Amino acid sequence: MSLIIKIEKLKFLLKKYSYFYYNLSSPLISDLEYDYLVLILKKLEKKFISLNSLNSPTKNVGSFLSPYFFKIKHLTPMLSLKNIFSMKEYFIFIKKIYKKLNYSKKLNVSCELKFDGVAVNLLYKNNKLIHAATRGNGFFGEDITENILNVKFVPLYLFGKNVPKLIEIRGEIVLLRSDFLNLNNYYKNKNKNIFSNARNAASGILRTKKNNIEFLKKLIFFCHSYGYIKYFKNHYNFIKQCKLWGFYVHNSIKFFNSINSVKEFLNIILKKRYFFQFDIDGIVIKINSIFKQKILGYNRVFPFWAIALKFNSNKKKTKLLDVEFKVGKSGIITPIAILKPVNISGVNIKKALLYNKNIIRKMDLYIGDFVILVRSGDVIPKIINVIKSLRKDVFYIRFPKFCPICNNKIIKNKNNLYYCNAGLNCKAQLKKKFLHFVSFNGFNIFGLGKKNITLLIKNNLIKNFSDLFYLNVKKISFFLGIGKKLSSNIIISIESSKKIKFSNFIYSLCIKDVGVVMSKKLAFYFVFVKFFLLIDINDKKLINYVGINVVKNVFFYVNSIKNKKNILNLINVVNIYNENKETKYLKNNIFYNKNIVLTGKLNKLSRSKINFFLLNLKANVKNFISKNIKLLIVGNTYGKKYEKAKELNIKIINEKEFLFFYFKYKIYY
Ligand code: NAD
Repeated sequence: MSLIIKIEKLKFLLKKYSYFYYNLSSPLISDLEYDYLVLILKKLEKKFISLNSLNSPTKNVGSFLSPYFFKIKHLTPMLSLKNIFSMKEYFIFIKKIYKKLNYSKKLNVSCELKFDGVAVNLLYKNNKLIHAATRGNGFFGEDITENILNVKFVPLYLFGKNVPKLIEIRGEIVLLRSDFLNLNNYYKNKNKNIFSNARNAASGILRTKKNNIEFLKKLIFFCHSYGYIKYFKNHYNFIKQCKLWGFYVHNSIKFFNSINSVKEFLNIILKKRYFFQFDIDGIVIKINSIFKQKILGYNRVFPFWAIALKFNSNKKKTKLLDVEFKVGKSGIITPIAILKPVNISGVNIKKALLYNKNIIRKMDLYIGDFVILVRSGDVIPKIINVIKSLRKDVFYIRFPKFCPICNNKIIKNKNNLYYCNAGLNCKAQLKKKFLHFVSFNGFNIFGLGKKNITLLIKNNLIKNFSDLFYLNVKKISFFLGIGKKLSSNIIISIESSKKIKFSNFIYSLCIKDVGVVMSKKLAFYFVFVKFFLLIDINDKKLINYVGINVVKNVFFYVNSIKNKKNILNLINVVNIYNENKETKYLKNNIFYNKNIVLTGKLNKLSRSKINFFLLNLKANVKNFISKNIKLLIVGNTYGKKYEKAKELNIKIINEKEFLFFYFKYKIYY
């Protein structure tokens, strides 16, 4: 593409994007992407000065003026701010100022928040608000007077001393984050388009001609600057006066008589940043003296006496080099973006999750595309945008038909997710399941990390969970290539893991949607593995307790022949205990903590077996009937004890009834 066409195409695109951003409050691309394109255009224009023109987006502020609004000429141009991103750049800015002013003494500066809102100009004449306008193209703005009357902190009259005959007050219209969320919820419920951020929402509300008083009332005007002004010597006096006139000036504004105090201010704001109820995207530093401001002057886009030190973005541009496919422990195939390494807030990022095929297609992402990557807090890096304007030589992202690990045919499930159903026959799934099995909330076995589990699988030493318990020091030391001491420590850990809580046991099985909390709930409900294996898919009480999805997942898991076999093999080698046994199981059975008398001979069981069984259930076996006895078990002969129990209204059960409880509970002792 010839350079002229490239420059014109970029100009056209940027104008289009500005139109959607400023006029329609509905950006087509991210700010980062927009700024990046401006940077490219600036570089091209610098290289080929002959192609420079005044109609370039790099030489203008804002966008077109909407035909739906009257135009208002600002008395003095309303400009943007030059952006910098470091203290180093700030000192370069200050150095230039000293040079231009030919000055050597201390400079006074103001430090303020850079509000991420909509710039507005208010013209007051003879104390009265005449009109309000947006920044527009910097020279002309759109008349929003009617709407501004409903915005908070816009006085209609300026009362008090020193009110000039004519003055332009400037500031930012902002929507609080909480109001922005409420507004978007409101639109979502009405199936309308939502705004991408609070700034766009504020702009949308302010520039809507419909009767939207309720929303307008949520907007706040933060006063921070002036346009046309007379009789004021410095910014400090102006701000002080604005407060007295009834404007809202945010109390974070600070005046310093040293240029070095800016760093301190920046650090404080960085700490407070997320505690403000509105969005800010940096700080603004202004030279205090209006006289000096006038000497320093401005160009078509920004003044030379103020600068915006923007916060480092947690977003960066990079290139998608390839897509790899990872097999998860449940067999789900997840696409992973392989990126040209990029450093975001000190972390080098080479990969990002792409979640699933639908997301890739929705983003219209191709291998070779330039993308915007975001990393916020501890969240996994995420591609949030594709820079389609830079697209060339790209490749379609094809989903594999066969599992990249075991070559099993890939299947699409109900939720349109792709997965490999080879289960433990797929080494990727096997590895992840084993890692889950030995993890802290499962069997909690030390020394078996990714590397060692991979080696054990590779050497066919472990195929099923129970195989772990048949390893020995010799095998471990040989196949993992580690010393005897370390190997025997692993074996000791495996041995001591055999005594396991029921909830940990359930967790270790790696059942979909059954994490730590759910395992605890299931252990509490079932008490014993036997009941767990007999789970009823229609058990209403359980469905209410853990939800139908978990019930289904557990049901299908334990009813798979392979899984059941696996569990039974495990039960044979481990010793599961339940911390809830006392509280739930015992208390719910009819023998718990009761005084019980036995009479007559039971055909199926010996006395000693019955006594042992009852003792385990914390029952007190007595010899005589009294009013303290709660239950009498009668065999095939009825005697005095039976008669007395009847007299005292004591509950009596026969052998058949007793055996029902015996077989229900005895196998666990
Ligand atoms: P800017 O965002 O850098 O901010 C300059 C503005 O900051 C000033 O005009 C002023 O109104 C405001 N401001 C806030 N607090 C202030 C304070 N305390 N003192 C003085 N001024 C203060 O520049 P801009 O010209 O408003 O917008 C340009 C930016 O908009 C671009 O960098 C780009 O990121 C974004 N943009 C995005 C798209 C898109 O499609 N996503 C399109 C166009 C522009």
